[in-house]
Amino acid sequence: MFRNLILCSFLFLSKGLMAQSPEVKIHSHNDYQQETPFWNAFSAKAASIEVDVFLKNRQLYVAHEEETISTARTLATDYLAPLETIAARYGTERLGFQLMIDSKTEAYTTLKAIDAALQPYLVFLWPNNPDGVRVVISGKRPKPADYGQYPDYIQFDCQNMDNVPSAAWQKIAMISTGFYRLSRWNGKGRFTHKDLERVTAFIAKAKSFEKPVRLWATPDSKTAWKKLYDLGVDYINTDHPQRVRMFFDGLEDCESQLTKKKEVYRPSYDYIQTGKRPKNVILMIGDGMGLAQISAATLSNGGQLSLTQLTDIGFVQTQATDDFTTDSAAGATAYATGVRTNNRAIGVGPNGKPLGNLPQLLSQKGWHTALITTDALTGATPGAFYAHVVDRGEEETMAKQFVENPFTLFAGAGKANFSAKQLERLEENGFEWAASVSEVSQKGQAGRLGLFLAEGALPAKMDGRGNLMPELMEGALRYLKSKKKPFFMLMENGMVDSFGHANHTQGIVTEVLDFDACIAQALRFADGNNETLVIVTADHETGGFSLPQGHMEQGYIQGDFTTHDHTGIMVPIFAYGPGAEHFKGVCRNNQVFDKILEALEIEP
Ligand SMILES: [Zn+2]
Repeated sequence: MFRNLILCSFLFLSKGLMAQSPEVKIHSHNDYQQETPFWNAFSAKAASIEVDVFLKNRQLYVAHEEETISTARTLATDYLAPLETIAARYGTERLGFQLMIDSKTEAYTTLKAIDAALQPYLVFLWPNNPDGVRVVISGKRPKPADYGQYPDYIQFDCQNMDNVPSAAWQKIAMISTGFYRLSRWNGKGRFTHKDLERVTAFIAKAKSFEKPVRLWATPDSKTAWKKLYDLGVDYINTDHPQRVRMFFDGLEDCESQLTKKKEVYRPSYDYIQTGKRPKNVILMIGDGMGLAQISAATLSNGGQLSLTQLTDIGFVQTQATDDFTTDSAAGATAYATGVRTNNRAIGVGPNGKPLGNLPQLLSQKGWHTALITTDALTGATPGAFYAHVVDRGEEETMAKQFVENPFTLFAGAGKANFSAKQLERLEENGFEWAASVSEVSQKGQAGRLGLFLAEGALPAKMDGRGNLMPELMEGALRYLKSKKKPFFMLMENGMVDSFGHANHTQGIVTEVLDFDACIAQALRFADGNNETLVIVTADHETGGFSLPQGHMEQGYIQGDFTTHDHTGIMVPIFAYGPGAEHFKGVCRNNQVFDKILEALEIEP
C-alpha cells in the first residue's frame, strides 16, 4: 500500500530547514585508492573526482608517493581512457564532472606531462565540449601569475585567496582548504561556536570570489556531510561517494516539517478520585509506532502530544514464537488472544488451532464490540480480532470469517475484498450501513452498523484523508455510548507502519499526529464517564527509525532508518483510566491481553 502513499507526498512538504537545491556535489577524495577507481565515483554521480599523479620516467603514475607506484596504473589508463567509454556508452552529457588532478611532483614539468596526456582526449574536455570534463590542477601548481600561459581546458584549484593576481582568477575553478585549518570538529554532534564562525567566514570569503568551495580532510559522516552542505560547501569531500549519494538521495524522504502545532488534550485524571471500575476498554494500536515514531511527532509538535499526557507507561516485548522480529499478524494475535504465535498467523496458535479472542469473549458476556481501522478490514491487525487463518495472505477466508464477526460496529477500508453475497450476508446478520462518518453517530440505538471507508486503500493523512479518523472516533464513541452497555473497541492506525516501510519521516509524523487526535477523542470520552480504560500501544516498530537531527522550534525532524522492515525493539504502552496501573513495567505482548482481563476482573 505504501507505494501509492508516497506518490503525492511532495505536495504537502513545506520547506524551511528541509533539503533543497542546489543538488549536492560529491568530491571523491583520493579516488585512485578506491577498490574500483573512477567507476565507483562515476556511478555515484560524483561531481568531482580526485586523482594524485606522480611523474616518473616521463610517465604520470596514479600514486601518492613513489613507493606506491604500480606501473600498470597511469592517468591515461585509469582516468582518461574511461572518458571515451562514457561518451560512447552513455553520451557526452555524462561527462559533466570535474577531474581534479593533484600533482605530487614538480609543478611545471608535471603539468607539461599532464597536458601531453590530455591531448588524445581534448574532444571530451570542457570548453571544447560544453558538456565535457573540467580538468582542474591541484597540489603542486605553477605560480598563479603563469596560469594564463595554459590552454583553456586546464583550470586550477586555489588554496590561498590572498595572493591571486586578478588576471589569474578566470583560470581558477574552485577554492579549497584543509578543514583542520578551520576546525577540529570530528563530525559528531555540532561545531563549537568559534569553529562555526571560522568555517562560515571562510566559505563567505570564497563565495565573494564567486567560486565553489571544497574542504579536504573533513569528517566523513552523515552529520558532517549534511552540516557542511547546509553551510554552503559546494563539494562534499568523501572516501565513500556511494554512501553520500544514498544519503542525500534519501534525505528528502527522511525530513519532516510541521508548520502548525496540533492541539493537545489534557486529561482530567478525575477517574482516580471517583474510584470506579473500568466498564469500557478502548485498545488503540499504532501499527509500527515505536518510541522514535512517537518522539518524532512529539518533538515536531513542540514537545507534547495528547498521548504524552499519560503517566501509566510501560514497554512491550513484541517477539513472535518463530521469529525475533514479529509481523502485524503475530503481534495483533498476541493482543487479541493472549497467545504468542508464529509470524503470518492470525487468531491461531503456533499449532494452527483457532484461539478465542477479546471481542468474542466479551460479546459473549453481553459487551458491545467495535473495530475501527485505517487499514483494510481484512488486514492483519484487525484480522486478529475476528479471524483464524494460518497465513495472513488468506484474505478471502478472512472476508468469509468477517461475515460472522461479533462486532456491533465496524469501520475500515477494503470494501472490494468482500463479495456482494458477503455484504448481503452481513445485512442478514443485522448490519445497517452508514454512508459516511457523520452518519455513524446519527444512526439509531438498535442494531449493528458498518462503514466502508474505501473500496481499496484509504489515502494517507498527508495525501488528503483530512480529519476522517478523529471524526470517526468521536462518532463511534457516541454511537457506542448510546448502547448503554459496556464496550470493547479496537482502533488501529495502520499507516505509521506503511510509512516506516517506505522510510518516510513526514508520513510517519503526520500519521502519528492523526492517531494522537484519535487518542484525544478516546481520552475526552474517558473523562466523560470515568469508567473507560484507554490503552495505546504498537504491535512492533517499523523502519528502525531514529532521529539524528531536528529543530523543535521549527517543528523540523531529520529521521534515519536502518531497515524497510519491522524491528525487534520494545514498544511503549500507555494507559489511562481505571485499571491503567496494570500496564506499567515491562511485559510480553500476549500479557497485555491478561492485563486487560485483570483490569476488568474477568476470568479468561
Ligand atoms: Zn508492517
